[in-house]
Amino acid sequence: MSKNVLVVAETKNGKLRNVSFEALTIAQSVADGGEVAAVLFGSGAAAYLEEISRYGAARLYVSDHEALSTYTAEAYTQALASLIQEVQADIILMGNTAIGKEVAPRVAARMGMGLISDCTSVETNEGNLVFTRPIYAGKAFEKKTFCKGKEFATLRPNNFEKVIKPAQTELVSFQPEIQDLRKIVKEIVKKTAGGVDLSEAKIIVSGGRGVKSAEGFQPLRELAEVLGGAVGASRGACDAEYCDYSLQIGQTGKVVTPDLYIACGISGAIQHLAGMSSSKIIVAINKDPEAPIFQVADYGIVGDLFEVVPMLTKEFKKA
Ligand code: FAD
Repeated sequence: MSKNVLVVAETKNGKLRNVSFEALTIAQSVADGGEVAAVLFGSGAAAYLEEISRYGAARLYVSDHEALSTYTAEAYTQALASLIQEVQADIILMGNTAIGKEVAPRVAARMGMGLISDCTSVETNEGNLVFTRPIYAGKAFEKKTFCKGKEFATLRPNNFEKVIKPAQTELVSFQPEIQDLRKIVKEIVKKTAGGVDLSEAKIIVSGGRGVKSAEGFQPLRELAEVLGGAVGASRGACDAEYCDYSLQIGQTGKVVTPDLYIACGISGAIQHLAGMSSSKIIVAINKDPEAPIFQVADYGIVGDLFEVVPMLTKEFKKA
């Protein structure tokens, strides 16, 4: 049965997020002849029409409503709920990003819909969509399906294929009713500038308590730079004040899915694995051969990170 799919696209630092294209690709496969549309909130959204059209959306909904120019959960929730009604979407897909994690449950609760979050795969079984998601910090996976109503799911970023399917995309401007906002954002001050964004990085060099100090992160930064990657950290390293919490990966930090994750001096606690175990290739560098991280690693190097990491940097520089 054909279904109308609405993809909530997102930008970060002026670029459409990868997960928006992944969601549009999933949307194509589940629409079954129904319409695939996208919505993009924020000022200047119309400028992304061409990119969105490369992934097969028939329409791109944008709004110049002042309350949507900067993200707030309240305004986005109201706008998305009214758009879902307006376009009669059967399936709503959105990235399991910081915004997705805030907005999706609010919209679902407001509209009395079910929500399946942080999905790592979507399949069709006898006409029903089956969503797979990790549970118990990634120790197990559960498969879920909706019994009734609209189907709303958030997708784990950088986990799905994105397939280009050019389409003629119509730009549609809409005016949602947004009222009784309890707060507005006056200004956003960035904490860090430059470097590769951790949540979008294809390569992450991550440090744990084994780096021993803030200075100990320097060899990791050098390796990340040579590889064009980002630096991440375990909570152990953040708690020890070797680096900022914005780098923390894991259950209570960021969930990342890079092509290559290099864990340096990280033991591999379950809470850390929850944030990185779906990385495509995991390399662990640890001086303890019994460290649990080796159980999830594709490649393991037993050794002192202060010897191994500079060696890798030197070799990659030659390449
Ligand atoms: P450690 O466990 O101390 O491991 C350090 C490792 O470095 C060891 O394996 C050691 O062999 C190795 N090492 C030491 N020196 C060297 C060297 N010179 N060369 C090579 N290897 C060396 N943790 C997270 O990471 N992310 C989370 O989001 C998170 N959320 C949590 C939520 C809750 C509710 C709780 C209770 C815990 C959470 N934790 C999280 C903490 C987690 O349980 C671990 O304590 C933490 O991940 C350990 O960090 P670590 O691996 O850096 O340190």
